[in-house]
Amino acid sequence: MNTTKKFEFQPLPYSYDALEPFIDKLTVEIHYSKHHKAYHDNFINAIKGTEMESMDIKDIFRSISKYPMAVRNNSGGYFNHTFYWENMKAHGVGKPTGKLSEAIVKAFGSFDEFKKQFSDAGKTRFGSGWAWLCLDDKGTLFICSTPNQDNPFMDIAEKKGIPLLTIDVWEHAYYLKYQNKRPDYIEAFWNVVNWEEVAKRCENALKSLDLKII
Ligand code: MN
Repeated sequence: MNTTKKFEFQPLPYSYDALEPFIDKLTVEIHYSKHHKAYHDNFINAIKGTEMESMDIKDIFRSISKYPMAVRNNSGGYFNHTFYWENMKAHGVGKPTGKLSEAIVKAFGSFDEFKKQFSDAGKTRFGSGWAWLCLDDKGTLFICSTPNQDNPFMDIAEKKGIPLLTIDVWEHAYYLKYQNKRPDYIEAFWNVVNWEEVAKRCENALKSLDLKII
């Protein structure tokens, strides 16, 4: 398969201004068309002529420690951003429903407690990185954060899991509107979470683990 097609730069699933007023148009435009695009292009260049061209990106992540740093940074930057765009939407419903909601209550005690812990993971990530909600191999939800462009699929992650929801806490994700106020951006993020997408990821993750209940 053609590498450019296989690792395509997916279209943004909504218009640049769709997440207003929570995430502003200019931020989304620069973040997607400049930052994300650069990670994609650099990833394609970094794997050119290597075995990675024919690999699944998750298999690259699973053995990321044996590849050059340029692959680690740009494969993560390419994948993480697509994952982030897709777990947001205009007018998010604000709360998960169904099984995912039950799993969150079971793991964290309440939705508010989950929100607090996830937000704290983003706020306390020193420097640049990501906060994640993940499923572990027992089917239990957990929250973690990763530095730079790392993600929980990578073999170097402190705790590995299947990611379900993420927030980008690099300054480029919020600085134009929120300047140094990362907590305000994280608070606004909850208004645009695409819970239907997160629930779908959760179901697929459970299937891949062959678990029926959480
Ligand atoms: Mn970013």
